[in-house]
Amino acid sequence: MDSKTLIALEDNLGAHNYHPLDVVLERGEGVWVYDVEGNKYLDCLSAYSAVNQGHCHPKIAQAMIDQAQRLTLTSRAFRNDQLARLYQTLHTVTGYDMSLPMNSGAEAVETALKAARKWGYTVKGVPAGQAEIIVCAGNFHGRTITIVGFSSEAQYQAGFGPFAPGFKIIPFGDSAALQQAINPNTVAFMVEPVQGEGGIIIPPAGYLKQVRQLCTDNNILFMADEIQTGLGRTGKLFACDHEAVRPDVMIVGKALSGGFYPVSAVLASKEVLGVFQPGDHGSTFGGNPLGAAVATAALNVLIEEKLIENAAELGRYFQERLAEIPSPHVKDVRGKGLMVGVELKPEAGGARRFCEALQGKGVLCKETHRNIIRFAPPLVITQADIDWALVAIADVLNMA
Ligand SMILES: *Cc1c(COP(=O)(O)O)cnc(C)c1O
Repeated sequence: MDSKTLIALEDNLGAHNYHPLDVVLERGEGVWVYDVEGNKYLDCLSAYSAVNQGHCHPKIAQAMIDQAQRLTLTSRAFRNDQLARLYQTLHTVTGYDMSLPMNSGAEAVETALKAARKWGYTVKGVPAGQAEIIVCAGNFHGRTITIVGFSSEAQYQAGFGPFAPGFKIIPFGDSAALQQAINPNTVAFMVEPVQGEGGIIIPPAGYLKQVRQLCTDNNILFMADEIQTGLGRTGKLFACDHEAVRPDVMIVGKALSGGFYPVSAVLASKEVLGVFQPGDHGSTFGGNPLGAAVATAALNVLIEEKLIENAAELGRYFQERLAEIPSPHVKDVRGKGLMVGVELKPEAGGARRFCEALQGKGVLCKETHRNIIRFAPPLVITQADIDWALVAIADVLNMA
């Protein structure tokens, strides 16, 4: 079937909860993807940073095939031989003493919220039913009803209430606001170290250090949602590493499986994740041997192929070259590592038309909010690939 037919089918039979670019992909390899007509594109979205290791990485693919032919699902009613290996790899790579595997990012966020509340009641001593969790305006933590209930984005909430109580929203990047919002019932502060969906928003230097200090001083959990920023995207293992701070709870997903399979996890100390007793929480697929084998392979690829170092080096290069492009439309170029945003002036007519023009030149990216083009290629990208993309980007940023 050609792309026209497939698009018509999809629009007719599928729910319209996305507004995708009209490109129908059928194959991917490394940074490149191919549509059903055989056109080739450089992927500058990486499935929102889930394919940091590049499309169809052969080592992860092999781990998946091998495991799929051995054992895929046991449920946690029984143990399997892959989960312990994933725990060990997560511990070695991240230093956290305990982890809890889930599937989607939103489920890991929900898990972290439940852990924080139970920690608040059983360890900190907050009165029953009174726990408060502080989050930031402009956040994106997923799409469940609990999570959209503390979004500041009107569309994420419209039509989906009522929402869970117990959340307080403060401005992002403002440690004084955090200090003011804390009270004796506060159990946690959850934040993205760089807001991704919010528009590649980087907080002021020193913010994460101040957050760490405030959380320590007030006995509240610092929970970092690094589902998008983590696992090398910003040029460090975690974006929090740029300020050398260690959150109490680290939430990962997306690239944890290199794009093969949904695997997410909450990483924390034994004091925090130790609050869960058998029966408190669970997931039929969470921690399954197929996901565990894939995630272990995906983490190994990240380290062995030095993808984090590559993100740091080529991220710097890409941002420098982008900033040099003369353009009447660009307001700001910013980013960390290979998580880059180009903010357009309000009068540029929106980022969508630039993304569509880039598609025509073989570069796939997606607008975030109205005016921001996000560039987040797989971390296996080379300087030559970036130079190739820059020619197309320069053209498009100079169109009428
Ligand atoms: C993508 C994302 C999520 C949600 O992950 P899903 O797998 O889509 O549920 C949560 N937080 C951040 C920062 C994300 O980028």
